[in-house]
Amino acid sequence: MPRRLTGFTPSGDLHFGNYIGAIAPIVSAQADTDTVVFISDLHALTLEHDPAQVRRRTLEFATLLLAAGADPDTCLFLVQSHVPQHTELHYLLECATGFGEAQRMIQFREKSRRGGRVRVSLLTYPILMAADILLYDTDEVPVGEDQNQHLELARDVAERFNARYGPTFTVPKAVTPPVAARVMDLATPGEKMSKSAASPAGALRLLDEPRVLRRKVMRAVTDAGTDVTYDPEHKPGVSNLLTILAACTGDTPQRVAGRFDRYGELKEAVADAVVATLAPVRERYLELADDPEYVRAALRKGAERARELASERIRTAKAAIGLLPP
Ligand code: ATP
Ligand code: MG
Repeated sequence: MPRRLTGFTPSGDLHFGNYIGAIAPIVSAQADTDTVVFISDLHALTLEHDPAQVRRRTLEFATLLLAAGADPDTCLFLVQSHVPQHTELHYLLECATGFGEAQRMIQFREKSRRGGRVRVSLLTYPILMAADILLYDTDEVPVGEDQNQHLELARDVAERFNARYGPTFTVPKAVTPPVAARVMDLATPGEKMSKSAASPAGALRLLDEPRVLRRKVMRAVTDAGTDVTYDPEHKPGVSNLLTILAACTGDTPQRVAGRFDRYGELKEAVADAVVATLAPVRERYLELADDPEYVRAALRKGAERARELASERIRTAKAAIGLLPP
C-alpha cells in the first residue's frame, strides 16, 4: 500500500474547501491507503501567532478530523510537535539545502513581502515540510498548486541526500487531490476559500452553525444575468455554487446546472446540501469536544507509533551524513 501524508496547519478555521479537497479524500481512502495525518503545529509558528490560539486550534483540528471520520486506528494520526524527530530531521535536511534554493520559494517571497518582521522559520518552513514527508518514507503527497514548489524541494533534497550520502529517503510523488475543483470564496469568487481569508463571510467553516452556513450561501456573490450555467471564467460566483453542490452530491457542476432556472433556487439547494454535509461533522465534533481525553489518547497513541517509525529513519540519516552513533 502506498503511504500518503497530509498535514493541517492550525492557523485559521477549517472550511468546506479543506473538507472537500483534503479531509473527505483522506476518510474515503484510509481503508486501502497507508495514511499519515498530522496537525502541523510547528508550521503555525512561522508567522505572527497567538500561542493560546495555536494550542486551542491544535486540539480543535484533531477533534474535527476525527469527527469527519479519520480513524486513528487505521491512520497514523499525530501532532507534529509531539514527535521530536520532525525537527531533528529538519536540521539534517537544512544541511542538504542551498540558501538560494530556500529563498526562491514563491510562498516565502509572497509572505515575507506582506511586511512586519520576517521569521527565519518562514524561510526554512519548506525544509521542515520536507522533513515531515521524508521522515515517514512517504510515497504520495496530495498537493494543491500552492504547495507544488515545496514538494519539488522535498524531492530535490531527498535525491541530493541519497546521491551524496547513500540511499536513505523515499523520493515522494505529488498527487492531485481527487476533487480537482477548488472551492472559491463566496464573497470574492476570484479567490480560493481559505483559512487565512480576511473576512469570514466568504468561508463556510466546519464549525459554523447550520443557520450561519445557510446565511453565507444565500448571501454569496452571484453574477450578471439570470441563467444558471457552469462558466468559471464569466460566471465565477454561480460556477462556484455549482462546484459546491456537485461536490456534496458526487455529481458534475455541468449536470447540476441543468437542474436550475434561477439563482435563488440554486442557492436554496446549495444551502441544503452544505448543511447536510457539514452538520453531522459539527454534531460529532461537539460530542467529541465533550470528551477531550478520547482525542488526547488517540494523539498520544499516534505520536508513540510515529516516534517509533521515525527513529529508524533518523538513525540511518544521521549515520549516512556522518554523525557518530551514541
Ligand atoms: P491557508 O490560507 O493558511 O493556506 P488553506 O485554507 O489553504 O489555508 P491549507 O492548510 O493550506 O489550507 O490546506 C489544507 C488542505 O486543504 C490542502 O490539502 C489543500 O489543498 C486543501 N484546500 C485548501 N483550500 C481549498 C479549497 N478552497 N478548495 C479545495 N481544497 C482546498
Ligand atoms: Mg493553503
